[in-house]
Amino acid sequence: MIKLYNTLGRKKQIFKSLKKNKVGLYTCGPTVYNYAHIGNLRSYLFSDILKRMLEYNNYKVKHVINITDVGHLVSDADTGEDKIELGAKREKKTAWQIAEFYTKVFQKDIKKLNIKEPSEWTKASDYIKEQIDLIKLLEKRGYTYRIKDGIYFDTSKIKDYGKLTGSKKRTHKARIETTEGKKNPTDFALWKFSQKKRQMEWNSPWGIGFPGWHTECVVMGIDQLGLPFDIHTGGIDHIPVHHSNEIAQAEAGYNKNLAKYWLHNEFLILKKEKMAKSKGEIITLDSLIKKNINPLSYRYLTLTTHYKSPLAFSWKSLESAQNALENLYEKVSKLKLYHALYNSTVGNYKKEFLGYINDDLNTPKALALMWKLIKSNKADYDLLLEFDKIFGLDLDKIKSVSRQNKIPEKIKKLAKQREQYRKEKEWKKSDEIRKEIEKLGYQIEDTPQGPKLK
Ligand SMILES: [Zn+2]
Repeated sequence: MIKLYNTLGRKKQIFKSLKKNKVGLYTCGPTVYNYAHIGNLRSYLFSDILKRMLEYNNYKVKHVINITDVGHLVSDADTGEDKIELGAKREKKTAWQIAEFYTKVFQKDIKKLNIKEPSEWTKASDYIKEQIDLIKLLEKRGYTYRIKDGIYFDTSKIKDYGKLTGSKKRTHKARIETTEGKKNPTDFALWKFSQKKRQMEWNSPWGIGFPGWHTECVVMGIDQLGLPFDIHTGGIDHIPVHHSNEIAQAEAGYNKNLAKYWLHNEFLILKKEKMAKSKGEIITLDSLIKKNINPLSYRYLTLTTHYKSPLAFSWKSLESAQNALENLYEKVSKLKLYHALYNSTVGNYKKEFLGYINDDLNTPKALALMWKLIKSNKADYDLLLEFDKIFGLDLDKIKSVSRQNKIPEKIKKLAKQREQYRKEKEWKKSDEIRKEIEKLGYQIEDTPQGPKLK
């Protein structure tokens, strides 16, 4: 039995997929205008653990992460400049170049963190037609109005607008800045008109412009996963604005919930403030790597705190995580020697482990179980690999102490081939093989007793 905390309803619920053994999972992706900060990456580590847990329970997961390459303004409340166009100005590149560059950086970041690649990457700018179609539908159903700035969604027409926040109040702090002519502070832009020439703009029935940020995830989610789909994830900052607006559009357009379960991760806290780019403090993954920190140490750090709790970040806490991870690797390298000697204890402890992760992803408890077993000599290599299907710490790549010295058959074969070429005085060919052996991480040394492999 899997239990997940559903923000919609504000309680832990038993997870039941809409289709048998299949899960549709949508994660709000990055706005690709700058490097992601590590606080931002916590969201994707969280959705990765969620996906791994579902797969561990034999669900086939279709996971979609979108790329926001247009429409996200400096304020989530649809005011200020477009973040991508701003990035283009900053770096003297085109908006399209900025989006492409930072998309690639983001994709590399998540790979370094062992986050499984989603089944689909969807791009907001590939879905302009679908966004226009949804806005036309909302217009036809009477949910929109036009002001100087663009086409807006009238949130007062939705009876329980903002239900995701769990509050009956219709306004929220994030909406202090308001656009002239808006009927309600919570109303949001569906289509914004180009006030001046932009790089990213399109024709629409209402005039040249670009879609608002909150429409893209609705059309991409429905296109990829159907309506409704199972799980929508994102950071808690999405609850009052972005996700409330997604829910409102699906209900207005189709009388349906967009997703059955809404899961939100808490922030990474740096000096008592959430880590956000707008605050001017950016710690990127690459800046950790430059300090000789393994990206997986950051992954480990996030596992030590439940996703629904704020994670206090300090260099010291990251260092402790790195020490713990190195300690774990050392234990694994030793256990690897013996695992064939013991009967696997996988069956005995898998149930307890599963109990923790299936209980709303309790990774701190699962991690504590692992260490308890290691310390009491009850863990074996197979069991740790089993746990690592969720943790994703690359435990399968740890070499055992003795096996490090063992030369694989493939390398031996190459060495023999090289000897043959040397006998035939084919120096160029023998040299090529030597280079190949080196590429594979081994060295060949010619001694009076013949070649030796290291
Ligand atoms: Zn979104």
